[in-house]
Amino acid sequence: MALSDTTEIFQFTCLDDNFGVLVHDTDSGTTIAIDVPHAGAYERALEQTGWKLTHILVTHHHWDHVQGLGELKQKTGATVIGPERSRQKISELERTVEDGDDVICGPYEVKAISTPGHTLDQISWYIPAVNFAHTGDTLFSLGCGRVFEGDKEMMWSSLAKLLRMLPDETAIYCGHEYTEANAKFSLTIEPDNTALQARAREVFDLRANGKATLPTTMGQEKATNPFLRAGEASVAKALGMEGKSATEVFTEIRTRKDNA
Ligand code: ZN
Ligand code: FE
Repeated sequence: MALSDTTEIFQFTCLDDNFGVLVHDTDSGTTIAIDVPHAGAYERALEQTGWKLTHILVTHHHWDHVQGLGELKQKTGATVIGPERSRQKISELERTVEDGDDVICGPYEVKAISTPGHTLDQISWYIPAVNFAHTGDTLFSLGCGRVFEGDKEMMWSSLAKLLRMLPDETAIYCGHEYTEANAKFSLTIEPDNTALQARAREVFDLRANGKATLPTTMGQEKATNPFLRAGEASVAKALGMEGKSATEVFTEIRTRKDNA
């Protein structure tokens, strides 16, 4: 059977607006967690699903992504893999990766894509065989992470890299449920984008019913996320920035969001 037929994904809320995500293969019993905002929330998710955790992949060193690592590792014995750049910061790491590395987790070949900007260590995790990607705090639905350690040019390079590497059908999971605020902001950038209008309606509806807006897909983000669309002529035009580079347009959008 194809890996995509035996893969199940469980996403749940942690802390205020973080996500926990489990990727499970029913055939081998492999279960991968991406980031651990809260050990207890993961323990409940594992209890609920009946899955046994085998691997933990870390996107970046921020506390809201790693604070439950030690406890969950100790309770499950899962192997912890994360960015080489944070080897000193994250004591639980047993294996580290750099851009382009492949990690084998049971039957899954997981690609580490370095996407710095929010932090310098940020890794996006991509499993091509099951069209799964977790973009940490780099790419959000209708948004992108705040630029803390890198600069805006670096963040745009990282988003452009995801645009090149992730096919439209890739399911995108990320660190936070920020989509409603992102939708409101995105509409100020591209009020006439009909795909964005439709997505915003869907998002407001989901949130009004207490439901998650993630995962999204790369195809949907390409059509609606102004940060990813900085290279589109229509976005430059909407901002009165015709002829400007994608980096300049992205910088303007990120600056407006920072000040929003
Ligand atoms: Zn972060
Ligand atoms: Fe975060």
